[in-house]
Amino acid sequence: MSAYQVPDASGLVKLDAMENPYQWSDEINALWLQYLSQATINRYPDPDPASLKHQLKQCFGPQHEDIALLLGNGSDELIQLLVLAIAKPGASVLTVAPSFSMYQLIAQMLGVDCHCVPLDDKFELDQAAMLAAIEEHDPALIFLAYPNNPTANLWSRDDLEQIVTVSKGLVVIDEAYGPFASASFVDQIHAYPNMLLLRTASKLGLAGLRFGWLAAAHELVAELNKIRLPYNINCLTQMTMQFALQNFPVFAQQAEKICQSRTILASGLSALPGLTLFPSEANFILIRLHTQSADYVYTELLAQKVLIKNVSKQMGLSNCLRVTVGTEEENQALLEALRHTLKS
Ligand code: PMP
Repeated sequence: MSAYQVPDASGLVKLDAMENPYQWSDEINALWLQYLSQATINRYPDPDPASLKHQLKQCFGPQHEDIALLLGNGSDELIQLLVLAIAKPGASVLTVAPSFSMYQLIAQMLGVDCHCVPLDDKFELDQAAMLAAIEEHDPALIFLAYPNNPTANLWSRDDLEQIVTVSKGLVVIDEAYGPFASASFVDQIHAYPNMLLLRTASKLGLAGLRFGWLAAAHELVAELNKIRLPYNINCLTQMTMQFALQNFPVFAQQAEKICQSRTILASGLSALPGLTLFPSEANFILIRLHTQSADYVYTELLAQKVLIKNVSKQMGLSNCLRVTVGTEEENQALLEALRHTLKS
């Protein structure tokens, strides 16, 4: 195995990790620090913060009373917990490729087989292959990112519903990029006892906090709770999340602004020679280069102090790069650097 690589971004326009580029205003920051000063840091945190869960349900749903939440130190902790929950001899995980690499990495690190069904050349689900893989492997756990990372698209809802229905195992719909997408399963989840919905605060603007949550039937959450470490969410994170949700409109406005910037960035990219871009329902855009190699363009952008993600080594993504939607200035810097590189 090799450890998850995070490049040093100091001094660079950082468009590699799908972060929200906006910070809180000085006014909100001051109120936040004042709120945090009430933390009882000498005590262990609340192991089951009911009021925070209530706030999360109010802001993001689902309101349905059959659905419970489980909180994680980032949604990647919850991915780990889910794989841990099913890890026993013979159990396997199923996902698609290309998709979020941690599904496979976590399965690998826990000694669980992970099967990856390739997406088709438009990055749509190959439903026949998915159904065949479910039949063959009977996976205990399926991960589907909706929208998918790094392709940024949403798949057919009918296909996803069919997968959930035919699967005997758990099906996780990972809506990390939900704030930027036109569709969600949040209002359907109560209808499927084996469907789990994963969300994160990271893409909303709180990547540094490490906070994610999972919504699923009470019975499932009760089982998963048995292997959660009791104090996995520290009290500063709990308080910050509560404070953030009290200021929820700030996030909603930022997500809206990012969606507007995505449209502007997409039209800027489509005006450049030698590349194709794929439609995006997330806060990033996947591009494919035709006249230069992805490695060359990545390195040239870095030399111009713009950091993006080179995904060209992933299955089905030859010559592809992934760019995060940043501020207007950052997006302009990216377009300028790309223009310069593609004409050279
Ligand atoms: N799911 C998907 C699809 C992601 O792309 C990411 C991060 N890039 C995560 C989950 C993990 O997010 P976090 O651990 O920051 O909550």
